Amino acid sequence: RTVYVNGDYLPENEAKVSVFDRGFLFADGIYEVASVLGGKLIDYPAHMVRLHRSANELGMRFTVSDDELLAIHRELVSRNGLEEGAVYLQMTRGATDRDFTFDTEKLTPTLVLFTQARALIDSPVATRGMKVITIPDLRWGRCDIKTVQLLYPSLGKMEAKKQGADDAWMVRDGVVTEGTSNNAFIVTRDGAIVTRPLSNSILPGITRATLMAYSEKNGIRIEEREFTVEEAKQAAEAFITSATVFVGPVVAIDGVELSDGKPGPVALGLRQTYIEESLKRAI
Ligand code: PLP
Repeated sequence: RTVYVNGDYLPENEAKVSVFDRGFLFADGIYEVASVLGGKLIDYPAHMVRLHRSANELGMRFTVSDDELLAIHRELVSRNGLEEGAVYLQMTRGATDRDFTFDTEKLTPTLVLFTQARALIDSPVATRGMKVITIPDLRWGRCDIKTVQLLYPSLGKMEAKKQGADDAWMVRDGVVTEGTSNNAFIVTRDGAIVTRPLSNSILPGITRATLMAYSEKNGIRIEEREFTVEEAKQAAEAFITSATVFVGPVVAIDGVELSDGKPGPVALGLRQTYIEESLKRAI
């Protein structure tokens, strides 16, 4: 695999960053993930808008232009012959002697991009659905920024796996915030989709936003409000959204089956719509 590191395209075993990188020492870094279908980038412009927002919120500098970033994405997809999968973009504040304080102006951000080949359309998640457990949301107060601080979500997924489930939904103040790496939705008995409003407590998912736009166009009612685990367990259906899963039907929450333990029609329909519409707009 070819990897991009600070201006160079290198074989992955030759790609290196400093041991003093603030991403490594302080998790002082952000990232983005754009999926690839048929060799093309899905929802790409929105992911780059969010990357700029994450950098701005943390006062990080940007040393590459938007045109260059797109060119790097395309070059990696092409060099790695990626037809289906994802491009990961990792950016940190840079490398400097270890110190909690920093002078951003004197630092050169570290930029790494790599690809991962993965079956996204024919995934087991779509055919058998996902089982989720619930865990307390113990993350920091700026979950709206896409930082590389992924330890808690990583431990949450491990706990889910240990319990024979696929993922965990996080709960704060009695309501569901989001999944460990995705946004959470339920479908009411009268067919409306419910997802919590954006705030510092969740990541503003690109797939969430795109899906909501498609739903509105297709006349599906959206209720942007908080919901409890109890309400979710009694919902007609549930699903998640993320760049690499698109729409993932949820078939059980804490062992309570939804839609007879099978992916529900609303989730499957939205998944189909998302894939079709996104492919039309892929670049
Ligand atoms: N929420 C969290 C915590 C995430 O990590 C992610 C994606 O990685 C999402 C939501 C979904 O965002 P997107 O649809 O932009 O992939």
